[in-house]
Amino acid sequence: MTTQPQPQPGILEIALYQGGASAIAGVDNVVKLSSNENPFGPSPAAIQAVRASAADLHRYPPTDHGNLRAAIGEAHGLDPDRIICGVGSDEVINWLCQAYAGPGDEVLHTEHGFSMYRISALGAGATPVAAPERERVTDVDALLDACTDRTRLVFIANPNNPTGTMIGGNELARLADGIPDRAILVLDGAYAEFVPGYDGGASLATDRPNVFMTRTFSKLYGLGGLRIGWGYGPRGIIDVLNRLRGPFNLSGTALAAAEAAIRDRSYTDRCLAENARLRVWLGEALAAVGVPSDVSHTNFILARFRDAADADACDAHLKRDGLIVRKVAGYGLPNCLRITVGDEPACRRVAASVAAFKGRAA
Ligand SMILES: *Cc1c(COP(=O)(O)O)cnc(C)c1O
Repeated sequence: MTTQPQPQPGILEIALYQGGASAIAGVDNVVKLSSNENPFGPSPAAIQAVRASAADLHRYPPTDHGNLRAAIGEAHGLDPDRIICGVGSDEVINWLCQAYAGPGDEVLHTEHGFSMYRISALGAGATPVAAPERERVTDVDALLDACTDRTRLVFIANPNNPTGTMIGGNELARLADGIPDRAILVLDGAYAEFVPGYDGGASLATDRPNVFMTRTFSKLYGLGGLRIGWGYGPRGIIDVLNRLRGPFNLSGTALAAAEAAIRDRSYTDRCLAENARLRVWLGEALAAVGVPSDVSHTNFILARFRDAADADACDAHLKRDGLIVRKVAGYGLPNCLRITVGDEPACRRVAASVAAFKGRAA
């Protein structure tokens, strides 16, 4: 009799991650609007930094990420000693679960929360727990009700993916106040840059011993392909995460690109202005043909259809027109499609395709 090697408990409960598709067989001129990437690409300064880094590929990268942490600290007015950089914010989320949750512990997240929270919790042997939302918006009371003496981490993305909605500063503070002392509130700010005047939870993470913020270079900065994220929070938590961090987790190329990108404010300002303008335009264009969405605070729209069959049919129609959007049934939203706000030609193609679909279906 043979016995198969068995992984740690929890691992086999992890469903394999489904990435956004990028090609459609037999269709050219395809536009990928399924992964919330910046349609304008990375800053030219970041591309230049990547090219320049090529001559040093034989060198190990710095292990302390000092230059990038200084650049982030300058851009956001934060103490660089309280910043840690990871291979995407995914890696930071993973460290938090590895360090603070294990078998018997609970990791709380919202009903339609980002899939990595559940994956990382299970990977650490902990139990993921979902709290209901109210009409696709984070519900602080529901989260507080779901806290137990086993809760170790509470993850919310604000604004959230895939809903695009967010809660305000008073609600965030109420959540931070209400969770158990032993739990850490993690504010995932992957889309914080898209909200004018919002600090992503940085001030809460500055002041509170149990609030932590994560951020990424994958969305506004257009560097998803290089995998760079960061976390900010209490020194004690940063110290713990640094013990788990591989000494050379980020390549020299990634570090150089991120530093150049965060210093190129005029580029990101132009991207933000286009995103804000086109997001409103797209939301209104879809609403006009009977496809509503919540007001989005991100670089995508969560379009709502009559039911799952309607959403699936529209997805198939968009695909035939070369437009790849994201089905979110896996997030418990089978009647919705998540559509990244592309450049203007892409937004016009989406609006025309959905209008044609609705006209045909009517
Ligand atoms: C895209 C996204 C991230 C970013 O992940 P990276 O690993 O930094 O690319 C994190 N959280 C949410 C909610 C996201 O949508």
